[in-house]
Amino acid sequence: LSQKALWPTAYGKIAARMIFANLLRDVIRKNACVGCGTCVAACPASALVMQDDMPRLAGACIRCGYCYYSCPMTSDERFRGFEEMRDAVERAAFGAVRQEPFGVYRAVYVCEGVEPEAVAAAAMKYLLRTGSVDAIATYGFGRPAMEQMLSRQRNPLAPVPTVITSEEDVDKVFRPAVVVAPSGMALRGAAYELMASFFQESYVPRTCYVAPPQHIRAIWRMRLGWCGSSKLERAVKFTIAVFGRIICSSSGIRTALAKKGVNLAAISGYELREGKLVLRVDGGEEEVPLEELGEAVHQGMAKVADPTGEFADISVGLVGGRTFLIARSEQGERVVSGMVAEGLVRVRRASESDLDELRGLYS
Ligand code: SF4
Ligand code: SF4
Repeated sequence: LSQKALWPTAYGKIAARMIFANLLRDVIRKNACVGCGTCVAACPASALVMQDDMPRLAGACIRCGYCYYSCPMTSDERFRGFEEMRDAVERAAFGAVRQEPFGVYRAVYVCEGVEPEAVAAAAMKYLLRTGSVDAIATYGFGRPAMEQMLSRQRNPLAPVPTVITSEEDVDKVFRPAVVVAPSGMALRGAAYELMASFFQESYVPRTCYVAPPQHIRAIWRMRLGWCGSSKLERAVKFTIAVFGRIICSSSGIRTALAKKGVNLAAISGYELREGKLVLRVDGGEEEVPLEELGEAVHQGMAKVADPTGEFADISVGLVGGRTFLIARSEQGERVVSGMVAEGLVRVRRASESDLDELRGLYS
C-alpha cells in the first residue's frame, strides 16, 4: 500500500502512504525526532521499540502508516505542519487564534515559590479526585507502561512512560525531569489497558496527557492529519504541557556526565536545586550546573519553537525563576479555578511585566 501511487479509482487517485521508512528518512535521520514515542504507541503491529530516545524497527512492518501520520514532526497532504497550520490548530483547540506570541489564553497566573511539576501534580490530583479523568498518561519514575517496548534498561536519570490512576500515586512517580521520556507510550498504556468493550460498545478511558510541549503536539497531529491513531487521540480529554526545563537526550547526558567522571551506574536519584542538577551518588551528592549540560540538550526538542506549550489546555512552566500557569481552553480555565478554590495552588494574576517575560521568550 505504501509508496506507490495506486491506480485511479472512481474517487480519484489514492495518494502514496508514508510508512516507518519515511519516518526514518524525514524525521529520525534529520535529528528532528522529539523522543515522544507516539509512533511506537500508534503501531498496531507492535513493530517498533524505543531505544536511547529513538524509535527503532524491531518487528514486521505491515506498512499501515500510523507511525508517520501520528508523529508531531511530520506533515502530509492534510496537515502541513504546525507553523503553516497554526491558526487551524488553534481554532480546533481553543476556538480562537492567538493575540499574543505565547499563544491563545484565557488567564495567566504566577505561582510563587513552587515548582512547575508541583502545580502540574496538583492539577492531576484535582482531575482524578473530581472524576474528570480515569487516568493520567505521563512520564515518571515508576513502573513503565508498555515495558516490552523499551528495548533495554534506561539510565537512572531517564523517566519512563507512566500511567497514573490514583491521586496517591501522583507524588510517588511524578517529579522534574532532565531527560526526555517517551510519554506518548503512556497513552497507549492508558488507551489499551483501560479501554473496555461491552456488547459492541466501547468505553474509551478519559485520559489527561501530561508532557512537554513538543509531545503534546502529537495529539493535534493525530486529530488533524490524514490517518492518525484514533485509539490514542480519542482517549485524550485534557492536556497539560510542562515547559521551561532543559531536556537532555539519554545518550547526551551519559556522555556529559562520563566526561565529568560521574559513574552513571552509581546514581540513585537526583533533584534540581537552584540551577543545578544534584545527583545522589554512592551515598553522597554531586552537583552539576545546568549550563554545563549544554552539549547534552536533546537536539530534536531544541528544534521545536514552542517555549510555552501553545497547544495544551493548561501550560505550566518556569520562566525567569518563577512558575507561570497559563489556562488556555475553557476546560483549562475551569480546572485552574477549581484548583484555586480548593486551595491546591496559590496564584496571582500575571501583571503586564510578567506577560512581557513570556513575550520575551519569542523575541
Ligand atoms: S505503524 Fe504501520 S507503518 Fe509504522 S512501523 Fe508500525 S506497521 Fe509499519
Ligand atoms: S518524534 Fe515521536 S513520533 Fe516522531 S519519530 Fe520521534 S518518537 Fe516517533
